[in-house]
Amino acid sequence: MAADDTDISSNNFIRNIIQDDLDSGKHKAIQTRFPPEPNGYLHIGHAKSICLNFGVAEDFGGQCNLRFDDTNPEKEEDEYAQAIEEDVRWLGFEWSKLCYASDYFEQLYAYAIELINQGKAYVDSLSAEQIREYRGSLTEPGKASPDRNRSIEENLQLFANMRAGKYQDGEFLLRAKIDMASANINMRDPALYRIKKANHQRTGDTWPIYPMYDYTHCISDAIEGITHSLCTLEFEDHRPLYDWVLNEVKTPCHPRQIEFARLQLKYTITSKRKLNQLVTENHVDGWDDPRLPTLSGLRRRGYTPASIRDFCERIGVTKKDSFIEMAVLENCIREDLNQHAIRVMGVLNPLKVTIENYPEDKTEDLTAKNHPQNPDMGTRTIPFSKVIYIEQDDFLEDAPRKFFRLSIGREVRLRYAYYITCTEIIKDEKGKVIELICQYDPLTRGGSSPDGRKVKGTIHWVSAAHAIDANINLYDRLFTHPNPAATDNFIEYINPQSLTRLTQCKLEPCLAEADTSSHYQFERTGYFVKDTQVAALTFNRTVTLRDTWAKIDKQNNQG
Ligand code: ATP
Ligand code: MG
Repeated sequence: MAADDTDISSNNFIRNIIQDDLDSGKHKAIQTRFPPEPNGYLHIGHAKSICLNFGVAEDFGGQCNLRFDDTNPEKEEDEYAQAIEEDVRWLGFEWSKLCYASDYFEQLYAYAIELINQGKAYVDSLSAEQIREYRGSLTEPGKASPDRNRSIEENLQLFANMRAGKYQDGEFLLRAKIDMASANINMRDPALYRIKKANHQRTGDTWPIYPMYDYTHCISDAIEGITHSLCTLEFEDHRPLYDWVLNEVKTPCHPRQIEFARLQLKYTITSKRKLNQLVTENHVDGWDDPRLPTLSGLRRRGYTPASIRDFCERIGVTKKDSFIEMAVLENCIREDLNQHAIRVMGVLNPLKVTIENYPEDKTEDLTAKNHPQNPDMGTRTIPFSKVIYIEQDDFLEDAPRKFFRLSIGREVRLRYAYYITCTEIIKDEKGKVIELICQYDPLTRGGSSPDGRKVKGTIHWVSAAHAIDANINLYDRLFTHPNPAATDNFIEYINPQSLTRLTQCKLEPCLAEADTSSHYQFERTGYFVKDTQVAALTFNRTVTLRDTWAKIDKQNNQG
């Protein structure tokens, strides 16, 4: 489970509040919830909220519900709800109860009648535009709707008619009667119910009216006995309304809302609405495109649940908005995979090498460690033969002195195999090098020379006769702008190089048996995972071995 390695010492202000509430006896046990709207797939920002809500419940011996905040039927779908459940489980958490705000529609309706009966809510016939006009601004108070002083009887009748489906969308609203002059605009008679003749994925056509978020959320929390209702900072201004509703209606308890800063990651987008646009306009290949910061995209990219939990732990929980570098997330997966990924060899851009002095029909089985520091991960055999592939990058015709890879007359070590020296090159009619002729030193098997001769470079390779063919996807940041959400049109900042598809890559034969849950380090080229969505054998690069952006970012920051 998630909390195995995260003890309570991973402090933050919310944990301190909870600890105080337990110490003072205010609560015997804590109850939290993670309340997504099923209108899209979860992203890395949601992971922060999930790790916090489920994490504190677990660490303090409490419980956490998964609650679908399903009050916008037109934007919500069961597909999204299913995907959300899958993602929460994948992250390593299990809810104590699966709840739906729509399960509380009757109760919410009854509470609304209670408000009307107390003279604390009224049915308004102003149009959306008029409501906006009447609301006032930050500098001017709002003014009362002519309907504000309707009698309780009239309000009850109109609200019953709303529920009975007698009116069209937009004809009436139920509003709280609070204070049109409040400095907090959220308190200027906010809407509680709207008419929406839409089919709901769970309640069908039962309801022609739907409760608003602010009204639904606090009551849902109270019904579930939530002790600490953790939400992001943009709801700070809504807290007075949260408390107002709970003070006016007789709910079983009054949860405490506590806000924390949203996760914002550089060079990407964490808004379901914008992610939706990327998906529906086909800028990416579905919600699980490995370039997206969705949990399904990260999973397909090869991120592990542990790495994401570690990331959430490292960024912490505060009240201060800030942008997190992508490198922080990448380092989490690098560290995890460095410990757990099987080492293999794969050639991304193959160059044929013929070892002239190696016997024609011979194949040797060389032994390689699956992990250099972890003998428990075992060994495997790698076939070696006369014709191999190496990376095109590992040969240069006009090589500078410090190029420690292959060039004519230079010697390198083939990982786990022999020293080879390049003696000749073959070019096509355009002058491109298409094959190297090399000589091997039979005394260097295993990678060292009995005469103590040293070579500086070690390169990876695969035996041509035994290699398997695969496609490889290399990913880069999806955006060229550090904060695409803040630009006029974030679509314009999509990185045209965010995906490089390589075909005809040559991999070690053991990868034919790769499954999608195994992670590999292709030596020298990065961490990879088998793609789950395409029939042809394809590997996705999760992350490079080192942070290739650090240098570029540093230059940009200086310039
Ligand atoms: P989005 O803007 O992506 O649609 P949202 O807040 O509308 O996000 P919800 O489904 O309502 O999405 O979010 C469920 C929970 O996840 C909420 O409590 C919300 O505050 C939290 N959450 C959403 N985005 C982030 C984020 N970037 N960082 C931390 N928590 C987040
Ligand atoms: Mg929301």
